[in-house]
Amino acid sequence: MNVLVINCGSSSLKYQLINSDTEAVLAKGLCERIGIDGRLVYKKAGGEKEITEAPMPTHKEAIQMVLDALTNEKTGAIKSLKEVDAIGHRVVHGGEKFASSAVITDEMIKAVEECNDLAPLHNPANLIGIRVCSELMPGVPQVGVFDTAFHQTMPPKAYLYGLPLDYYKNYKIRRYGFHGTSHSFVSKRAVEFLGLDKENSKVIVCHLGNGSSVSAVVNGKCIDTSMGMTPLEGLIMGTRSGSIDPAIMEFIAKKENLDIAGVMDVLNKKSGLYGMSGLSSDMRDLEDAAAEGNVDAKNAREALGYGIAKYVGGYVAAMNGVDAIVFTAGIGENDNLVREDVCSYLGYLGISIDKEINKKRGEEIVISTPDSKVKVAVIPTNEELAICRETVALV
Ligand code: AMP
Repeated sequence: MNVLVINCGSSSLKYQLINSDTEAVLAKGLCERIGIDGRLVYKKAGGEKEITEAPMPTHKEAIQMVLDALTNEKTGAIKSLKEVDAIGHRVVHGGEKFASSAVITDEMIKAVEECNDLAPLHNPANLIGIRVCSELMPGVPQVGVFDTAFHQTMPPKAYLYGLPLDYYKNYKIRRYGFHGTSHSFVSKRAVEFLGLDKENSKVIVCHLGNGSSVSAVVNGKCIDTSMGMTPLEGLIMGTRSGSIDPAIMEFIAKKENLDIAGVMDVLNKKSGLYGMSGLSSDMRDLEDAAAEGNVDAKNAREALGYGIAKYVGGYVAAMNGVDAIVFTAGIGENDNLVREDVCSYLGYLGISIDKEINKKRGEEIVISTPDSKVKVAVIPTNEELAICRETVALV
């Protein structure tokens, strides 16, 4: 079965065509600058990357170009669209309505629309992708896979904020958590890879990328996670502040003469590693700068490592123990120094890591020593494959 996986953003769209039997990626790429001008990146397995500049006034033209590229006589990965058996869409926010992936129907779309308030930048874009695919490929079954679904098993003590309860009842203000597809994929893989008992396992997943979050997973079910009602809460991220004293918002607004939108812009786009270092949101740049003696870059890196260690400590308490700690995503898979830094706080758990093995990048490895009381591993995430698997399971 061939599954087209689509991750539709407001001005971009990432896609992969995956053969679900072999789990091989047949082709992948992205459309950028939708609504501005338009640029298609397409790469067939084993082929060269092709870049085509062409007008994409809306997502419809963008998806049409992806379909044309996939079925191109010379460079296409398939002969016709009949070879696309199902489509899996990433959907950011499923609110409390979706605790698992769902086949896309009119009713399901309506329920997703009701969650738009909670993710006003993401959900409408995801829905555009769904609608355009229904139009261009009528009859092909589609599935929505939610970033929030995996975290729906959290108990009220983990998801309720210390706010008037009416805000939860009336507006559904609560912790939802994000990166759920990754946390689910990586925690499941950790159980297999590390030979843990599925029914008796406590795993902490550190998804550290441009956006970062930590989750605590007991027997395959999420019991807590660091992101909140939105992906702004929790760890320091590329450009997002993560958790701060909420009173700082009013303070900045007065000092900088900003309205709410202005303050939110600072917290979402000008803070985090970028804001703290004044240099870049990319950990590679901060690693280089810190190595050259840049104190602000060093402090930003240390603040991230320290923050991760505090979440890990908190989740060990929440789970009354831990069997494995797993690092994933861009920073988690590649930045051995951040992993080493985080683990340096965890000696009290009997954790020790092999610093030489830890130097490996981007592959599935156990970095803890054989005598470490808790296993520590790197497991590359693969959200597209996870979406493909969910889609196959439902259609
Ligand atoms: P992601 O959002 O998972 O794609 O992760 C993106 C982040 O991973 C980038 O912002 C980089 O900071 C980080 N990253 C990627 N490769 C490396 C690397 N080799 N060393 C350190 N950080 C990296």
